[in-house]
Amino acid sequence: MVTQKENIKGLSLPRLEKRMVEAGHPPYRARQLFQWLYQKNVNNFDEMSDLSKSFRSWLSENFVAPRVEIAEQHDSDDGTIKFLVRLQDGEKVESVFIPTEGRNTLCVSTQVGCKMACAFCATGYQKFTRDLKTWEIVDQLKSLPFPAPVTNIVFMGMGEPFDNYENVLEALEIFRHPMGCQIGKRHITVSTVGLIPQIQAFVDADVGKLAISLHGTTDEQRTRIMPMNKKYPLAELLDNCRKLNMPGRLRITWEYLMIDGINDTEEDAHRLAEILRGIPSKVNLLAYNENHFVDFKRPPEERVLKFQRIMLDHGYTTTYRRSRGRDIAAACGQLHHASATRAARLARMQAAAQPSAPAPAQA
Ligand code: SF4
Repeated sequence: MVTQKENIKGLSLPRLEKRMVEAGHPPYRARQLFQWLYQKNVNNFDEMSDLSKSFRSWLSENFVAPRVEIAEQHDSDDGTIKFLVRLQDGEKVESVFIPTEGRNTLCVSTQVGCKMACAFCATGYQKFTRDLKTWEIVDQLKSLPFPAPVTNIVFMGMGEPFDNYENVLEALEIFRHPMGCQIGKRHITVSTVGLIPQIQAFVDADVGKLAISLHGTTDEQRTRIMPMNKKYPLAELLDNCRKLNMPGRLRITWEYLMIDGINDTEEDAHRLAEILRGIPSKVNLLAYNENHFVDFKRPPEERVLKFQRIMLDHGYTTTYRRSRGRDIAAACGQLHHASATRAARLARMQAAAQPSAPAPAQA
């Protein structure tokens, strides 16, 4: 009988120690293994030179240490690289490397598809298939070929991170650990549409910075583009944020995607300043990245700058993040969507090329 080998990746250090001790090995073996996997990025047990030969053989007999693979890679003129990542079951997600002055940020995915159905997002139009496992989240950092070391991680790729909370939390432990990937918690940002129970738990855990996608200043606006607002309406979300016990001098980053004619008036800017009052906040403005999946328009640049000016005058730190990688469909879900569309077209062409099946016999 062939027994399935266990995947050794994706366990936080305490869980890996527990696993090793259960198998009769001392806990320091787990620490060595953890360093090989996440600090030295070695997945082949035979290459883990400070482990005893017998321990290495035991690992090889019982475990595997898989990697995710690159299905497609698209390099933008501005240095942004978008990877379409193939998982072991053939599903695909996106990861984006974004170099800016002084930092190299990796945007990771947490789910295949998404249940949140945001109207402006290509992923929101894809069927939710499954949560990513912890190792699949971590491996987006460890197995892709970046031109420079990643200094920052943002959870803003495909999926709602707080809808896969346990796996995201464990990935954060591995990302942050001094024997793991060594990315400090102030260099990690997790972005949510506003799942209130997990927001509270995340802030209490103090494992990274919090970003919340707001994208509207009234329930009407927000529900139109973010259906999750029906479950967690604006007033409830803001009220909970006002009561959060933010660690240190941390602030919530409010992501505000400006869409022409939807949420981009001067009145919206003043209202935004008003509703955020009393919450340690900074605001990150984005202008909609037009694409052929969704029929929204990008607002004129002057309107975005005027919006930013109003927020600054109200005393909020407000940045305007210009889109990166527009030439490679770098917005969340676009590349996956394009790849799936190509695959469907190919399947249709292949089906059309087949000789037609005989018609069923008439009864
Ligand atoms: S914006 Fe984020 S939460 Fe909304 S549908 Fe897209 S991936 Fe999901």
